[in-house]
Amino acid sequence: MILPENTIDKNTSINMEPIAIIRSCFTDKFGIPRQPGLVPASTARLEMLPPYSRPEAVEGLAEFSHIWVFFLFHQAVARGWKPTVRPPRLGGNKRVGVFASRSPQRPNFIGSSVVRLEKISVNNKIVTIHVSGVDFLDMTPVLDIKPYVPYSDSVPNASCGYAHEPTPSFDIVFTPEVLEFCLQYKTETKQDLKELISQILAQDPRPAYHDEDNREYGMSLWDLNIRFAFHKGTIVINTITHQ
Ligand code: SAM
Repeated sequence: MILPENTIDKNTSINMEPIAIIRSCFTDKFGIPRQPGLVPASTARLEMLPPYSRPEAVEGLAEFSHIWVFFLFHQAVARGWKPTVRPPRLGGNKRVGVFASRSPQRPNFIGSSVVRLEKISVNNKIVTIHVSGVDFLDMTPVLDIKPYVPYSDSVPNASCGYAHEPTPSFDIVFTPEVLEFCLQYKTETKQDLKELISQILAQDPRPAYHDEDNREYGMSLWDLNIRFAFHKGTIVINTITHQ
C-alpha cells in the first residue's frame, strides 16, 4: 500500500498480508448470515500463519469473551467495488452508498466481525483460535484480530439507519431421514447440524426478490449439501448429502 505524500515518510509503504486463514462451517456464500452473532451455532477456526502463529502473540487474548476479526472479502475482489449498493435489508431494490453499507463489494474489501471466542489451542507451536457466531466464508484471509472491549465498543442506544428490523422467522421441518442424518453426524463430529441449519434458515437466506413457494434451494456446510424448500411460512429440509 503506497500512502499519499505528507502522510508519513514517502519512502515508507505498508504491505498487508494475511495473519491467519479461516476454516469456516460455511463452504459456500449462500446461507452465510448477513452479520455475525445471528447464528450462534456457526463455528470457525482461525488458523494462524507464520510468522504470526506464535503463542506469545495471543497471550492474554483468551481472557476476552469476544474478538474483532478484520478480514478480506476475498471472493468479492474479482467483481470490484461500486459507489452504491443494494442492501438485502432494503429488499434488494433500493441503493445506498457503499460506505452506508456492510457490502463485501467495497474499496479494499475489508470485513469486520465481532465473534465469540471459544478457545485458543496451541499444537506444535501452531496457534488456532476457535470462534462461533460467524459470518465469514471458508478460506477467508484474516488481516487482524483485536479483543472486543464492551465498555467502549458497545453503543446500546446507537441508531442504525435502515438496518434495524429483525428478519421474519419460519417453522422448520426436518424429514425423518434428515433428522437421522443429523443425529448420526452429531455422534461422529459433535457438530449440532440440526441447530445450525435451524438458525441459518430462520434468517431467510433467500435473495430479496425470491419468495416463490416450493422453490428448492441448496447450501453447503462443511462437506455437506443441504436441500430445502419454502412452503407457506414453513421450510422443509428435504435432503442432506455428502458432497
Ligand atoms: N460483518 C462483516 C462486515 O460488516 O464487514 C461482514 C458483513 S457482509 C454483509 C456478510 C456477507 O459477506 C456474508 O453473508 C457473505 O455473503 C459475504 N462473505 C463472507 N465472507 C466472504 C468472503 N471471504 N468473500 C466474499 N464474501 C464474503
